[in-house]
Amino acid sequence: MSVNIDTEDLVQKDRDYLWHAMAKHNEKALPFIARRGEGSWFTDMDGNRYLDGVSGLWCLNLGHGRKEIALAAFEQMMSLSYFPLTLSHVPAIELSAKISELLQGSYRTFFSNSGSEANETAFKIARQYHAQNGNPGKYKFISRYRAYHGSTLGAMSATAQANRRMKYDPTAPGFLHVPPPYSYRSSFGDMPNSDLAAADFIDQVISWEGAETVAGVIMEPFISGGGVIIPAKEYLVRVAEICKKHDVLLILDEVVSGFGRTGKMFGFMHSDEVKPDIITMAKGLTSGYLPLGATAVSSKIYEKFKENGTHNHLRHVSTYGGHPASCAVALKNIEIIENEQIVQRVANLGESILGKLHDLTALSKVGEVRGKGFLYGIELVEDKVSKTPVSEELMGNIIAACTKKGLIIGRNGDTVPGFNNVLIIAPPLSSTEEDLDFVVDTVEEVLMEFC
Ligand code: PLP
Repeated sequence: MSVNIDTEDLVQKDRDYLWHAMAKHNEKALPFIARRGEGSWFTDMDGNRYLDGVSGLWCLNLGHGRKEIALAAFEQMMSLSYFPLTLSHVPAIELSAKISELLQGSYRTFFSNSGSEANETAFKIARQYHAQNGNPGKYKFISRYRAYHGSTLGAMSATAQANRRMKYDPTAPGFLHVPPPYSYRSSFGDMPNSDLAAADFIDQVISWEGAETVAGVIMEPFISGGGVIIPAKEYLVRVAEICKKHDVLLILDEVVSGFGRTGKMFGFMHSDEVKPDIITMAKGLTSGYLPLGATAVSSKIYEKFKENGTHNHLRHVSTYGGHPASCAVALKNIEIIENEQIVQRVANLGESILGKLHDLTALSKVGEVRGKGFLYGIELVEDKVSKTPVSEELMGNIIAACTKKGLIIGRNGDTVPGFNNVLIIAPPLSSTEEDLDFVVDTVEEVLMEFC
């Protein structure tokens, strides 16, 4: 299909009408308008090609242009265009069963449209579960500083990144924050097991608050947008034990880490013993082809919603949550992930990429390189002793230099004022080996120039 596009007109309309997410208003810079995508690459209006080293917003896991996925949406829309999940439809039934199988347990899934909504749903389910389990006073949630859990009020309240909340405070009551397991800058001093100290701090906070007031702990298995923080393997196991001890629900936000990103189907599967109470998903669930969020709860929790009583069911609904086309797309996406052994591929290739990126720590400004699967963070510092974060300007210059060479990379969001110093790389899981070499070579060239 050939479409004549008047670029100048588009730019003007973009400037006049479109409100970009997270972007500062800048009347001078040209908007970055994508025109086409193919695999891990996209092309802008001038025909320049870029490798999308952050998979859109960490969601385009299978890359652009998968015809099978588009056809799944098309066929579903032609056969049953919409149907609410107050009743039921085939793709939602099949997808909920598939999710339970992938989670290797007995889980029941509530569908929504996004990661934020999946987390909101988890908070409501957790509070109602405790109330119906005879503990109506359990309402507080604990999350970690640097975490991002979404943009809606509850999810933003769990998000512990000052800059993202500042203009919207006060956030919802009942959300508490604790330090992350961040051994490079541990809140617990320079000790060998600082990640376990971070876990034990959660134990203390629950006791200090009164376990009878705490409903849940929410965390990503690996903090992603907050700077790619990879805890020691035992951390999550310890947190799970602490939650169990206090009858506090462990809610794992697998919005980024789910569906293969870290080299396991779900991030928590790196810790065999952990059986989360609630798992939230979005992004990689459909590889970004259509919006879909999911909140999977263990049967222990669901049982409490089956009990008799007028108010004991979940009073929560989403018009488009679990849209038939989104569920059909998710099923096809998962089928491809399984058939192409994407998760195993990410685990194997991820190790060697991390090894190559790790060599960059020889550079004077590369403080630490962290990663798991196809998720990498490169923390840049002025010097390795003071660990002073590099300037915003240097971060901007590095990202711009990568863009100029045809590679899009990101950085940690507005995590902590003055600490936006982690470069983030998360290419599509289906990237070819040639694509991945391009990512590593480009990052290396640019960092050798600037660091
Ligand atoms: N949780 C995590 C870990 C995320 O990274 C995000 C989005 O980036 C969300 C939740 C929110 O997802 P959404 O943007 O689909 O609402």
